Amino acid sequence: MAAIATTTTIPRVVIIGAGFGGLAAAHALKHAPVDLTIVDRRNFHLFQPLLYQVATASLSPADIAAPIRSVLRGQANARVVLDKVVDVDRRARRVVTENGRSIPFDYLVVATGARHSYFGRDDWAVAAPGIKTVDDATRVRAKILKALEEAELEDDEAIRKALLTFVIVGGGPTGVEMAGAIAELVRHAAGRDFRRISSDNISIVLVEAGPRILPGFREELSSSAHHALEAMGVSVAIRTMVTDVSDEGVMLGAMRLPARTVIWAAGVKASPAGRWLDAPVDRAGRVKVEADFSLPDDPAILVIGDTAAYAGTDGAMLPGVAPAAKQAGHWVGSLIATRVLSAPEPVPFRYRDAGSMATIGRKFAIVDLGWLRLTGFPAWLLWSAAHVWFLIGFRSRLSVATSWLWSYLTYERGARLITGREIALARPATETLQQKDAA
Ligand SMILES: Cc1cc2nc3c(=O)[nH]c(=O)nc-3n(C[C@H](O)[C@H](O)[C@H](O)COP(=O)(O)OP(=O)(O)OC[C@H]3O[C@@H](n4cnc5c(N)ncnc54)[C@H](O)[C@@H]3O)c2cc1C
Repeated sequence: MAAIATTTTIPRVVIIGAGFGGLAAAHALKHAPVDLTIVDRRNFHLFQPLLYQVATASLSPADIAAPIRSVLRGQANARVVLDKVVDVDRRARRVVTENGRSIPFDYLVVATGARHSYFGRDDWAVAAPGIKTVDDATRVRAKILKALEEAELEDDEAIRKALLTFVIVGGGPTGVEMAGAIAELVRHAAGRDFRRISSDNISIVLVEAGPRILPGFREELSSSAHHALEAMGVSVAIRTMVTDVSDEGVMLGAMRLPARTVIWAAGVKASPAGRWLDAPVDRAGRVKVEADFSLPDDPAILVIGDTAAYAGTDGAMLPGVAPAAKQAGHWVGSLIATRVLSAPEPVPFRYRDAGSMATIGRKFAIVDLGWLRLTGFPAWLLWSAAHVWFLIGFRSRLSVATSWLWSYLTYERGARLITGREIALARPATETLQQKDAA
């Protein structure tokens, strides 16, 4: 196993994951006298809140990702390691990676995010991919675009109908935004570029098991979002359970809904960090942490963001959203900085909930800032401003905001290309036939 050489006279801090939490922790340590290593299995930070727009061909992956090295370019005490962590040897105080690296630490921050949860039905993952990574998003994009291409050429009415039926499972913010974006894609791209496809023969179904979509929002906002989706041609099926998923479609209780594109937006589970750390986890696999985000038996190992189960003083769990991960990251970074300097520790962590927002297409959003509630176009303007602001936050160039807004408003054509591996992935039926022939 290759050990990573470090200058060991100052405390060694290792951060696993350069997502929202990990980067915030790294930034908070910028001026601290520490030897900082940030390990990620990808070489870029991903702005996940706009991933569904890559999946629906509104934006290209490069619009929502930034190389970790560039983000940390100005931070002299930080080193970046591209590798996948597979274990943590707590006794030896080392992080172990897939490529056999062994990275020593005095303080460890684990910020490895979350994955999809199929509630015990992992076999549904192939037919109903979720969107967590750029690969997921480009695969879903290819699936949607390929379904349109095949439908354009298909004469069998039943197959054509299944190709033009898009099912999104889960009525949380991701599912709602995804449904709205597919409706937009279909109206603005498919309607103009295809000869035999129009909005009339496309069916988009958003399935939610609970009594309403966007359960995290106030009822009146969730109801506005419901109406906005329906106005865009999305059928919203509430109190409806998906009981089976296959390449052919979904079962909604006893009803079969043929659909070639099914997208999973129903659940998440934490990364396997709990296993590496041999630490107690909750039902979603999140590591149970103390008030300072440390493990109950180890004050130098801190777990934050979507990987952590953190209960506030009022007992409420910290939500799995980007601001919560960023605030926790900033706080633990400051905590470590004060500890290495033997300075007074920061005031106890308190989550500042700045509110929630969700967009439905390019003209409608809902915003709840507590003191301000908005729906419709004004809310959409606020949503765009907030997202552009946060994108600039990590890519730090005004021109990025301009080009992002331009491509967003003009339906960037380049994002609608089906390329390379995506074409191959989008042809399971042909491959299966060829495999059968070969057999
Ligand atoms: C499609 C989608 C839409 C979303 N929309 C919103 C939204 O609108 N607003 C909002 O606030 N939140 C939204 N979220 C949630 C938000 O993105 C997360 O809460 C946030 O990213 C959590 O930050 P994190 O630092 O815990 O993890 P992440 O940001 O997920 O970062 C985890 C990092 O760890 C790395 N990693 C994971 N495993 C390993 C390993 N074994 N070895 C090395 N590196 C590893 C990953 O590559 C990644 O860089 C959305 C999430 C998704 C998926």
